[in-house]
Amino acid sequence: MDAIAASAAPDSSRVRGRLSAIMRDDRIEVLDVHDESMRRVRIETSVEFRSLSRVLAEDPGVPIDQPRDLERVFWDVALEPVDAFLDEPRAQLDEPKSGAITECPTCLGNGEAPCDKCGGTTRVNCESCRGHGAIPDKRGSSSICKFCQGQKFQPCRACKVGTLPCKPCNKTGRAYTVQRLIVKWHTRKESRVVAEAPPEVSVQGVGVVAERVVRNEQGALASEHLAELDAPLRAAVDALLAEHPAPEQSKIKTQTLIVERAPVIAVRFRSRGKEQRAWLVGDALEPVGLEPSVPMSTYALIAAVLLIGAAAALLASMRHGAG
Ligand SMILES: [Zn+2]
Ligand SMILES: [Zn+2]
Ligand SMILES: [Zn+2]
Repeated sequence: MDAIAASAAPDSSRVRGRLSAIMRDDRIEVLDVHDESMRRVRIETSVEFRSLSRVLAEDPGVPIDQPRDLERVFWDVALEPVDAFLDEPRAQLDEPKSGAITECPTCLGNGEAPCDKCGGTTRVNCESCRGHGAIPDKRGSSSICKFCQGQKFQPCRACKVGTLPCKPCNKTGRAYTVQRLIVKWHTRKESRVVAEAPPEVSVQGVGVVAERVVRNEQGALASEHLAELDAPLRAAVDALLAEHPAPEQSKIKTQTLIVERAPVIAVRFRSRGKEQRAWLVGDALEPVGLEPSVPMSTYALIAAVLLIGAAAALLASMRHGAG
């Protein structure tokens, strides 16, 4: 792969030929050609969250020892992932011999828990009109629901006051629990567009030019990858990292820096005595913008399709070559 910030120098004779064809003017004068690549920096951070809480468990019915302090070894316990679903527990561990009769985690010791039928509101959707307040008739209109008088709700039959006796603790507010360490993983994706010209080019079509792991569990690594970045990219990375610090009670597993780029060539030229600007993309130098006088929407549409195609091809070739 090329260096992260590398970009090809625009070939002005090709640009001139292309513009002549687009403008149907073979006396075009190219005033300035430069690479105005639109770039985007993405940082993907896989974070592991751990939490410690007491959860309901089956009471073994035999005397238990004093619970130990799992907080002491919080990050030291090695846990194999059991599940790959994001934001679902990936691993969990019950502290040995931590079983004890404690405050019930379901009702927090109240003995009463919010009614699961009405969510504590004491009313549910009317079962006759399903909460619409009206019932459609055969002629296509509707009449007011007689059951709820159009009120849409009926009183909850499961409870009277919004709460029900807590089942896990049998209304006592105390239950058998164990100390459980729960591990969750989550991948955050943050991005920042570094340069955007012209604004009509969709960022969706950009191709990945570099992908580097810049941090792992042991900490920051491969600082040379960051050193490869030019000043605007580096500033964007620094800003992203500052804006999104690792949350508390979490640990970074990996952090990957991805630089994407849409190769856009900006041209200033003179045609038939009028100075204009154009933006060209891809090997075919397709116009994505022309200023003034040509509506950009048509070009933007063409360009979006081309860019997406080019990005897909680029990605495919990179995957192939990366192996
Ligand atoms: Zn309870
Ligand atoms: Zn009703
Ligand atoms: Zn209820």
